[in-house]
Formats: sequence, structure tokens, C-alpha cells
Amino acid sequence: MSHRAGSDVTGGSRAQVLAHPGPMVERPLQLLEVEPAPPEPGEIAIEVSACGVCRTDLQLVEGDLPARRLPIVPGHQVVGHVSALGAGVQRWSVGDRVGVAWLGGSCGDCDRCRAGQENLCAAAEFTGWDRDGGYADRIIARGDFAFSIPAAFADVDAAPLLCGGVIGYRSLKISGIRPGGRLGLYGFGASALLALQVALHWGCEVYVATRSASERERALELGAVWAGGYDDAPPVGLDAAVTFAPVGSVVVAALRAIVPGGTVAINAIHLDEIPAFDYDLLWRERGLRSVANFTRRDAEEFLALAAEIPIRTVVEVHPLDDANLALERLAAGAVSGAAVLTT
Ligand SMILES: [Zn+2]
Ligand SMILES: [Zn+2]
Repeated sequence: MSHRAGSDVTGGSRAQVLAHPGPMVERPLQLLEVEPAPPEPGEIAIEVSACGVCRTDLQLVEGDLPARRLPIVPGHQVVGHVSALGAGVQRWSVGDRVGVAWLGGSCGDCDRCRAGQENLCAAAEFTGWDRDGGYADRIIARGDFAFSIPAAFADVDAAPLLCGGVIGYRSLKISGIRPGGRLGLYGFGASALLALQVALHWGCEVYVATRSASERERALELGAVWAGGYDDAPPVGLDAAVTFAPVGSVVVAALRAIVPGGTVAINAIHLDEIPAFDYDLLWRERGLRSVANFTRRDAEEFLALAAEIPIRTVVEVHPLDDANLALERLAAGAVSGAAVLTT
């Protein structure tokens, strides 16, 4: 995609382009008119209707997550309709409603891909990091990495499911939590809010730890049996926990709360140092695992489950023009639920 600045940005295809990462006060994203490129073989063009705003976007825009390509259009929770097909695309028709998420492609051929771990493919490409993403009114995606969106969800409600929802779901799987088990959620942002609904659907008892008093209150309203601060011990031992807060000390707090044989799954692409802890916290087959991205299978399973539950999303909608504002609000902790950009 080539980018050019335009004073009149209403005529063509528009995108929020990141050329120079920097603090949000510098408003790093620029709304530009872009030349629409045709889809290559195997790709589809999508007219974007909604794109979720994720903390990873904020980390990329501010430079905390190093850019892999600049300029780049962020955004990896994209919902829209197929507008053109590249050569060889059989799976989709023009007009189909599809979603595109963080995993934008993998090689399909390495040991990890062959083992069903395409999320760990060394050649994986990520939407809004390697490939231009959905902060735009048009996106090009690999047809085999797009998803059908269940009819139960409006475009803006489906968008936050595509990152926080899918990765939260994979985190639950990695944590090994079983139906009816006692689950800890450490941190209670958009992703944890969706994971809570899945866990309740599975009949789990959910214990939520977060610094924020209002989030503790919300967790209890939504069905958690207990809510406390990171340093408060839950009243019972937990079978598994997922940490969402990007703070290393929270991982140790979660380890302290689980029973022997239990696992803490760390849902963070970025984490500060985990403080040293006594081996006794890990002894007796407790486990500590990170969660990296997701597979297409995770996304398909989760979207079907989300429609079945059905999962409720809380969204705050902003026009595409206000992408900087939406990210500023996310940085300030002012967004309740998930922010979504619409075209
Ligand atoms: Zn994300
Ligand atoms: Zn691969």
C-alpha cells in the first residue's frame, strides 16, 4: 500500500497510518488517503465496518512494542464485508461478512505449523504489525486467515471478540481449567471480561483479582464469586489462573493462589520482569505457561462458543477519524469494555 497525505481525505480509501511511533500526546496516527491495492492471489479485499482498539495497538503506536514495518496501519480486530477476491480464493464470495484477527498468516509448512501450532510459526505474519491492519476503511487479508462472523453479533460487538476474546479463550485452554473448576483471573480488562463469561458458561467458580475497586465491583455483578486486590489471597485454593495484567509481580501472586498441579497462564505479549520467588510456589507440579497469539482453530471454536453463550460485549464506539482519541482513552484507563472504530 502506498500512502500519501491528502487535505481532502473524503474522496478515496482512508487509513490511520503510523509513520513514527511516539507518546499519545504527539498523536502519532495520521489519517491519510491511500491508494487501494488489488488483492494478490489467495487474498481478499474487505470493506471495513468496525475495528477494535487493543492494548497491543497502543504499545505499537507508542513504540513500546517495536514496529516490524513502518509506515503501518494498526488494527487487528477487523470486521467487514468482502469486496474483491484475489486469484484462487474459493472460500469466500463478494459480500460475505468476515473477521480478520492478529494472526494474519503462517507458513503452513514448518514443524510448528504441521503440529497444529501455527501460533508459534517463526514466519507468522501479524495483522497491523507485519501487514496493514483495520484502522482503515479497506484492508487486504489472506483469505485462509479470515473468519466467518456468527449472525448473532453486530459488527461493532464482534470486533472485540477477535483479539481479547480469542486470546482469552486460548488462555483458558492453556490454564487447563476444567468445567466446574475454581479459576482465578488476575486483571480485569476487556479480555478477562470475555474469559469470565466463558468460564461461567463452563460452570466454573471465578475469582477475580484487580487493583481497581470499580472493576472488582463489576466482576461481582457479572458473576464472580470473589473479587480482591492482587495481594489478597482468595479464600480457597484455585485450580488454575490466567494473568492479564502486564505486571510481573501479578504472576507470582497468581502462583501463590493455585493448588498443587495447577497452572498459571500468562496472557501478555509484553511483561516486565517477574520477581524472584521461592521454589515452593512452583513445587508440586504447579505450572507457569505463556500464551502466544492463537490458532485459527481457537478462533473458530471461540466464535461458535461466543454465539452459543451468547457473550455480551460492552463497546465504546469512535469514528475512524478519532483513532488517536480512542487510544488516548485506552492509555488513560478511561475505556470501559472495549473501544471500537467505525468507518
Ligand atoms: Zn489485540
Ligand atoms: Zn510455519
